[in-house]
Amino acid sequence: MTKICCVCQRVEYKTYWKDDYTFAPDERVTHGYCPICFDVVMSDLMDYIEDNDLQGGKDGGKTDSGQQNSLCV
Ligand SMILES: [Zn+2]
Repeated sequence: MTKICCVCQRVEYKTYWKDDYTFAPDERVTHGYCPICFDVVMSDLMDYIEDNDLQGGKDGGKTDSGQQNSLCV
């Protein structure tokens, strides 16, 4: 199965990624990320997580004691 990068459209060919790959008529294709676009996507994702405070830090969690008290009554 041939992997094509869904961002830059390059195609994984043996050990590198080709810009000008020609598909065979019956070639089966799967989409993914080339290493370069994967790094970009991951750093964007990390920025998004930090910007939106999705790491469950300060405000999340730590409400167990209150809930346990009400359950025990
Ligand atoms: Zn790419």
